[in-house]
Amino acid sequence: MKVYAGKGVFPGIAFGAAWLLKRQEFVVDESSSVSPEAEWALFQAAKKRTDEELAAIYEKTKAEIGEEDANIIDVQRMILEDGDFLEAVEDLIKNESCRAAHAVAKAGKQFADFFAGLEDPYMKARSADMADVSHRIVGLLLDRRESFTLHEPSVVVADDLSPSETLQLDKKLIRAFVTRRGSTNSHTAILARTFKIPSLVQAEIPLDDDMDGKAMAVDGHKGAVYLEPDEETRNRLETLQGRDEEERRGLERMRGLPTVTGSGRKVELFANIGGVEDMTAALNEDAEGIGLFRSEFLYLGREGPPGEEEQFNAYRGVAEGMAGRKVVIRTMDIGADKQADWLGLEEEANPALGYRAIRICFDRPDLFRTQLRAIYRASSFGTIAVMFPMISSLWELRLCRKTAEEVRQELSGEGIKTGDVEMGIMIETPAAALCAGELAREADFFSVGTNDLTQYTLAIDRQNEKLGRFMDTHHPALLRLLEMTVEGAHKAGIWAGICGELAADPEMTGTLVEMGYDELSVSPAFILGTRKRIREMQ
Ligand code: PEP
Ligand code: MG
Repeated sequence: MKVYAGKGVFPGIAFGAAWLLKRQEFVVDESSSVSPEAEWALFQAAKKRTDEELAAIYEKTKAEIGEEDANIIDVQRMILEDGDFLEAVEDLIKNESCRAAHAVAKAGKQFADFFAGLEDPYMKARSADMADVSHRIVGLLLDRRESFTLHEPSVVVADDLSPSETLQLDKKLIRAFVTRRGSTNSHTAILARTFKIPSLVQAEIPLDDDMDGKAMAVDGHKGAVYLEPDEETRNRLETLQGRDEEERRGLERMRGLPTVTGSGRKVELFANIGGVEDMTAALNEDAEGIGLFRSEFLYLGREGPPGEEEQFNAYRGVAEGMAGRKVVIRTMDIGADKQADWLGLEEEANPALGYRAIRICFDRPDLFRTQLRAIYRASSFGTIAVMFPMISSLWELRLCRKTAEEVRQELSGEGIKTGDVEMGIMIETPAAALCAGELAREADFFSVGTNDLTQYTLAIDRQNEKLGRFMDTHHPALLRLLEMTVEGAHKAGIWAGICGELAADPEMTGTLVEMGYDELSVSPAFILGTRKRIREMQ
């Protein structure tokens, strides 16, 4: 037996035969082309076929899995039309006499490396999409294709998996994913969570050909993969698997039940989403509302900001989809780890302490007002609340409210109907928690972003992996700030929730509910588990 460590992205135990994804190494002809025009025509034809293939995978995924996952393929179709990428290929073919396959391989690698080097985890994850698209075009140009056929229940092992590779595999036969690269934010990780497939990323596993077909077991709780597990390990993991299944069955019984403690106290159990496409998961997992719509994802990975109409459609889609249940839209939180190139932000020595979120919005009223217009317009199609990120001072809250009111009046002057929009703030800085009493008198609600509140309270950059052992998410200082926040809110008669990761921490559910929090907003996959723990409370 051999054991390798990795990072679990969906907890659970799985057994299967190792299935090694052997991506074909294409050898491209690097000699100069005879006719750049002919090579350009070859590229255009391969690009067209690639788009047709991706469109077919899109349809297949939509029919078999759902539109939300199929949209992943749309990202690749967009990359295929990316102006910078096409320009780079054209330049290589026409000005440097590269053959089509050579040009695509070269430009594809350049762009994939560029994405891989970016800080923003979303953009970083686009590296796999870029590599995947260029690999597909080169495969077509060289007339060489890969096989994605699984023959038995399998643990898919790969250096990295691109979304289209993942989607071409037969879901019924996938027991687990194990990849050497990939982040918890990568599409494969997101898909693994959507399909609830135990999976590891960043696994320290060699890709030896002779492991193909051998028995493998994956422990997604602990982050371990076992090649040819011995009997004792197998038995131990089977017991754990049985326990997981029992727990899952238990959780299914939570569906449709109210989130109340034994003594009858109601807690709102909402979901965090990053876009319209996550709403299905929120509804499937029985979310009672959306407690955090991270609207900034609409702004990332593109060449400019989304316009009012595009945003309106997104917000309206979620408001209508949630059918009257509350949807809390957070205004864009760009900056720090979420960079949008089109904003042209300068590099900062301390980005986490820098120019982000509401601080950018105040300097860019064009962006801020456009977003508020879209939110207000969507507010007549459901129950929408808006919340402002990274607030530290009362004047900031006042300026947010003033701007929002101006926008509302502007719309009303144009004869556009708006609904009642609650206006809250995120409590993410120690300053906001310490001044909760004053802020609560002028806000409609609080939602604590414990991810940032922890980083700012403990002076620990949440992106810095080296600081893991200092990152104590249960630190007494943080708990005191959490208490002050909810006390300040209740004294002023407003509600308080938590939308940071702490809201889903099983060890903290009891403490947070006892502190008096009225709402917990968690990733869709954690809704039923959180409901169970709340219902088990006194
Ligand atoms: C938080 O800081 O806890 C939060 C929910 O916001 P984000 O993780 O998007 O910064
Ligand atoms: Mg935050």
